[in-house]
Amino acid sequence: MNLNDSIQVLKGVGAKRKEILEKMNIRTVKDLIYTFPRKYEDRRTVSYIMNAPFNEDVLLEVIVVSKKLQGSPYNKKAPLKVLVEDSTGNLELVFFNAKYLAGYFFPGQQLTLFGKITLNNGRRQMVHPEFHRTGDKDDIRGLFPVYPLTEGLTQGQMRNLQLLAEPYHGLIREWLPPEIVDDNNLCPPSYAVTNIHFPSEERRVLEGRYRLVFEELLILQTGLFYIKKGIKSFQKGIKLDKNVGVDEFLNNMRFELTEGQKRAYKEIEADLEDSRPMNRLVQGDVGSGKTVVAELAMYKTVKCGFQAVMMAPTELLARQHIETLKKDFEPLGVRCELLSGSMKVKERRELLEDLKEGKIQILVGTHAIIQPDVEFADLGLVVTDEQHRFGVEQRSLLTRKGKDPNVLVMTATPIPRTLAVILFGDLDISIIDTLPKGRKPIKTFLRYEESRNKIYDFVRDKVKEGSQAYVVAPLIEESDAIKVRSAEEIYDELVPRYPGLRIGLVHGAMKPKEKDEIMLSFKNGDIDVLVSTVVIEVGIDVPNATIMVIENCERFGLAQLHQLRGRVGRGEKQSYCILISGSKGEIAEKRNNIMVSSSDGFVIAEEDLKLRGPGEIFGTRQHGIPELGIADLVKNVDILNKVRVIAEDIIEKDPALSEPEDLELRDRIRMMFGDKISLNL
Ligand code: ADP
Ligand code: MG
Repeated sequence: MNLNDSIQVLKGVGAKRKEILEKMNIRTVKDLIYTFPRKYEDRRTVSYIMNAPFNEDVLLEVIVVSKKLQGSPYNKKAPLKVLVEDSTGNLELVFFNAKYLAGYFFPGQQLTLFGKITLNNGRRQMVHPEFHRTGDKDDIRGLFPVYPLTEGLTQGQMRNLQLLAEPYHGLIREWLPPEIVDDNNLCPPSYAVTNIHFPSEERRVLEGRYRLVFEELLILQTGLFYIKKGIKSFQKGIKLDKNVGVDEFLNNMRFELTEGQKRAYKEIEADLEDSRPMNRLVQGDVGSGKTVVAELAMYKTVKCGFQAVMMAPTELLARQHIETLKKDFEPLGVRCELLSGSMKVKERRELLEDLKEGKIQILVGTHAIIQPDVEFADLGLVVTDEQHRFGVEQRSLLTRKGKDPNVLVMTATPIPRTLAVILFGDLDISIIDTLPKGRKPIKTFLRYEESRNKIYDFVRDKVKEGSQAYVVAPLIEESDAIKVRSAEEIYDELVPRYPGLRIGLVHGAMKPKEKDEIMLSFKNGDIDVLVSTVVIEVGIDVPNATIMVIENCERFGLAQLHQLRGRVGRGEKQSYCILISGSKGEIAEKRNNIMVSSSDGFVIAEEDLKLRGPGEIFGTRQHGIPELGIADLVKNVDILNKVRVIAEDIIEKDPALSEPEDLELRDRIRMMFGDKISLNL
């Protein structure tokens, strides 16, 4: 008996079942045992027929009153109806197509039932409940594990498989060092898995879960640290000259750097002057001024004789960047060019030639710059803006255009530090936590439908004073049953209301080029009110826009609302954000209040995480994070914090994970990460 035995050694697992289980990556008995329940069904409290809620799973204790087969006794499909009662009332059990069950029941018999009560013509019914008769083997009470499943596999079959694998539990040995086990009060792994699968007592389930979450996070975190360490120590990158400064650039600037910007650049500079390649993430709230920090890094790189490239997620953002860069760099004799999707063939060829010959020092573009014909003479720095839109792969493809160039990633999605360490395990992190001076906090209001007229008047007055406004509507999905206002509808409503004002519309069905044109005329001040779906770009910078109206704000994630709000408040004038809520529920209220009371992206992100979970927000898969079996990066953040310290310690003491006590951990890391990340393990 071995944990690595094929799943087929278990009774009843033939070729077909094996194939189904393989779809869930279950190949060995160990894989099966490490497939944990997602949650538990609590069947410990008995309900009473008349007080039990409808359409929810309930546990009942009843006595059989009578039974009857409906229809002809020769009809195999005739439903069997069993009348049962408890002290509060009675209920009819219905079994379709189950004539064979008739002999199971007799009047006076005691039954335990589990199922949903429904109302049919005023009569309480339970259709196909699970039932237990005195003397039946399998109890239906207690805590029941609920497993992830795949097509062709039922909950009952899964539970049964786990039962068959139970004799193997004893083979799971403690593999963590005794100090870690003792310090953290961890139960043995065999005890943990037994109690996770066969939950006899809540306390034991929790003990077991703690142990398994702890170990999973430890493997994850140590693995990520290991990778980071590996990248750092194995690669030899470009070392920039310490004596080359960026003073000319600073002297030429229109403003002073904020403290946050200074600190971030200092960290970047230290990386650039080190021979290991830089891998740094700059996090800063919308409007915190990340671009200029990237410019400083590019300037230093260029001055040392290398090229730099900046990748933006959309053409529009790329164009915005090239404008800024040209303004800032051309007076200093640095040539910047945009590789645009709309270039003529000849134009493009010439540009690529100049790039290859090193005549262009800074290139800006969308992911189009990843294309193979884009070649650099000597690429020294790769900057990606709004990185969460790019996958790890795109980032690394770009990196390969140089010889281990420095990498700078910029993101406006504030990520709580613990999670950032996980998601960007291979990156160092700088945070810009100050906004440029003179920014007035945006005034945020929450309003409901009844204030629509007032809101529209307010917008008109502000626009007449010379401001510009955004009105954002959620994307409407086909499945939407509830009435939600579309961008088109709002546009049609505003045009007659605002005679003399220039109103623009951007919606999802438009071609990217059309969208860009409208966005551009908004930026140039040729449109006063821009109605749009969320397509308005993440990084667009229009200082004269001071009003942001968000329709059906309950439809947006908090972080998304924060991003949208960040489109205003970029100039000297007071800015406003008006959230129009279509629902007045308690949760909606709570969410909206967070928006009204906080302007701190990190606080909002943390709340958003609690509400939605990291997978949905950051696409953990895209970040190369292996799928977790039991741990939850948000709910288990306390354990994660503990584990991080331990993982740091392990890697510090044994960077190669080659000491005997770390071999099992190394093995587990390899198992968890698989071929997702090429480890030198
Ligand atoms: P983000 O971090 O959202 O990318 P940007 O880099 O686009 O922010 O900067 C937002 C605006 O703030 C730009 O107009 C930029 O010129 C301006 N800005 C950046 N840093 C400063 C500063 N230190 N002082 C004043 N304005 C600044
Ligand atoms: Mg930006």
